[in-house]
Amino acid sequence: MKQRLPAHPDRAWLDKSADEQLAVLRAGDPDASLADARRQVAGDYGYPSWDALIAYVGGLGPTGRPTTRPAHLPGLDAIDAWPAFTPERPLKVLVSACLAGMLVGVDGSSNGNYPHIRRLVALPNVDAVLFCPEDFSFGTPRATPDIHGGTGAEVLDGRARVIASNGEDWTDGMVAAAREMLARAEKHGARLAILMDISAACGSQVIYRGARTNAPHQIGQGVCAALLARSGIPVVAQRDYLTLDRILRRLDPHHESPSGLKDHHEIDWYREYFGAASEP
Ligand code: SF4
Repeated sequence: MKQRLPAHPDRAWLDKSADEQLAVLRAGDPDASLADARRQVAGDYGYPSWDALIAYVGGLGPTGRPTTRPAHLPGLDAIDAWPAFTPERPLKVLVSACLAGMLVGVDGSSNGNYPHIRRLVALPNVDAVLFCPEDFSFGTPRATPDIHGGTGAEVLDGRARVIASNGEDWTDGMVAAAREMLARAEKHGARLAILMDISAACGSQVIYRGARTNAPHQIGQGVCAALLARSGIPVVAQRDYLTLDRILRRLDPHHESPSGLKDHHEIDWYREYFGAASEP
């Protein structure tokens, strides 16, 4: 069961937690290492690695709210500095096919309805390439894949596997799909990708940790999103409303921004689920 971080965690508290965990581990295994203990602590709090937990805690401001943007998101200042896009010189973007309404979900659906994405894709100064990596490798309908033993980045590094709900190992097919997605993005000249969160392929903010039936969520990216981000292509999830709104402002001079928009890592559910402290 995932534990909640205290209200104001800091590096000293994390190191103390790892030392205490090491003592527990060494009571049963004298060869247990500090790395083992750190991995255990990170996992206990829902993070894929010690580095991820350190990065998260290091990015919390004095009130406990995250102050840093995840590195896979495009910077808001960078978006503001984009050139003007026209029908002749459009914003080129790669989009999860299901977000655009294509029936490529595991059950042959579009995984819901996302009018804000469909509106963006339909703008005359947007040139979107739509792609479903899982459909590419496994067809539709299909079993449901999830990542076991890590995140998409660890799948790419050979340290985690993609297992489908039918028990088959889909790691190789998912990595092939990720490479195809990257190739299409690069061929298209995509400035960024807008992908469906949670998916073992396209997730960028949150994915499942293991088979999604009763599995906890974890911070991390799916295999395809991880490869795009690693290759320098920013990734935005359909729930990153602040970033998507900033993109819309660059595309549509008449766009009016609602107040209070947040990206997925800033919402209450995320902060509560992953243990960030509440505002005092
Ligand atoms: S793999 Fe990506 S594009 Fe395909 S259905 Fe899943 S989330 Fe959508």
